[in-house]
Amino acid sequence: MDADEVREAFLGFWRQRGHAPVARAPLVLWGDPSTLFTGSGMQGLLPYLLGAEHPAGHRLVNSQPCLRAQDIDDVGDSRHTTFFEMLGNWSLGDYFKAEQLPAVWEFFTGTVGLDPARIYVSCFGGDPGHGIPRDDESARIWRELFTAAGLDAAEVDLSTEQRAAEIGSGGARIAFYGEKNWWSRGDSIDATPVGDPGGPDSEVFYLYPDVPHDPAFGARCHPNCDCGRYLEIGNSVFLEYLRTPDGFAPLPRRNVDFGGGLERIAAAAIDSPDVYRISLLRPIVDRLAELSGTGYEQRRYGLRVVADHLRGAAFLVADGVRPANKEQGYVLRRLIRRAVRVAHSIGLTEDFLAEVVPTVTELYRDSYPEVAANAGTTVAVLAGEEQRFRRTLARGLRQLESYRLLTGDDLFTLYDSAGFPVELSTEEARARGIELSPDWRAEFDARMAEQRARSQAARRH
Ligand code: ATP
Ligand code: MG
Repeated sequence: MDADEVREAFLGFWRQRGHAPVARAPLVLWGDPSTLFTGSGMQGLLPYLLGAEHPAGHRLVNSQPCLRAQDIDDVGDSRHTTFFEMLGNWSLGDYFKAEQLPAVWEFFTGTVGLDPARIYVSCFGGDPGHGIPRDDESARIWRELFTAAGLDAAEVDLSTEQRAAEIGSGGARIAFYGEKNWWSRGDSIDATPVGDPGGPDSEVFYLYPDVPHDPAFGARCHPNCDCGRYLEIGNSVFLEYLRTPDGFAPLPRRNVDFGGGLERIAAAAIDSPDVYRISLLRPIVDRLAELSGTGYEQRRYGLRVVADHLRGAAFLVADGVRPANKEQGYVLRRLIRRAVRVAHSIGLTEDFLAEVVPTVTELYRDSYPEVAANAGTTVAVLAGEEQRFRRTLARGLRQLESYRLLTGDDLFTLYDSAGFPVELSTEEARARGIELSPDWRAEFDARMAEQRARSQAARRH
């Protein structure tokens, strides 16, 4: 199955089970100042999870484009992208764990055809302090599913991720974690706002036995380890508690909220631990490799970053964002400029966006026609920003090359007068063998702080 087929299969699977497809929310919820971007499928549905009646009923399904700018530093690994699609199904006061978990199992192992023997799950380990019991019900359902498939169903209590890295999961199918498997607004059990729902969640992971555990991420491996051996492909959230002034009470109307990364499920479907090998990313990577004359094995990090950033930028433009110096526009600008910069480091030193952007927009011709329909605008916006940034880049690099040693003051000057971000200066300096003074970071930070103080003072007058 390719990625488009996985998306279609997911929507069809839940439609057959009485779920109404709901339109995706835009990447920017323009009226909502509390967040810059839509980062999950549930975000647009929150009022209904909090109790409002959804016009389409109690069973919903969709695929939601998401942007998580907060994941930008993870981009380059095998499985985090700033832009991704989240497949979601919801039960609003309808079915619960006994229907959800077997359906998730059926979708992954039956419909997508994943190997049951490589599926591992996590469940909520309980919080005695708040009187919330362990999610034994989810664990029992998983145990029955594993057992029926002829698999062992050993359990392990890992509590925190830190402890998990010390003791490892030892290959147990069902791992209990504490706070990690709790969902509520405020994102900690204690911080759940009074009057809000919250509850345990249960994640599904796909094991890549050929990916060795990397001790850089902890002594021992476990499903939530970040080494890449386990890939989190989906998460069912069970909203079953209500936060009260003195604790938690059972919620009369319980909801299910499932979110699964399309890119990751599509990677599992082709047995790849790397999301950049799927049908929605590989053509972008291949085009970039072709234009730069490099190969994926030699330039994996750079090709991944550029491919991710361009895809995110194309969706942002289609959803109405334009490069700017603040908020959403700043994130778009950052994605484009970072793509141009990283592309420069893999040999794409000339304008290339106009060549590549159509490859990106074409990929979504059928699934998100608005992205392909905006292709002309997207090319113009991205190529325009590229040209502006290249002028800055050329000027800044000339200035940078005039230094033999760079101090924090110099870095500030480059930032302030040439518009050169400090990471760019330091990366380019290292590549040119230009030395950095040992205390450049502190000096640079101090100059930045002075500048902020000056501009705040100016605003007050
Ligand atoms: P991770 O721990 O891997 O960063 P997460 O806990 O942040 O994931 P959730 O918030 O539970 O993920 O999102 C639901 C699903 O969306 C995940 O199971 C995963 O499949 C997918 N997902 C989350 N973040 C990303 C990302 N940056 N890129 C691709 N897919 C993602
Ligand atoms: Mg998670």
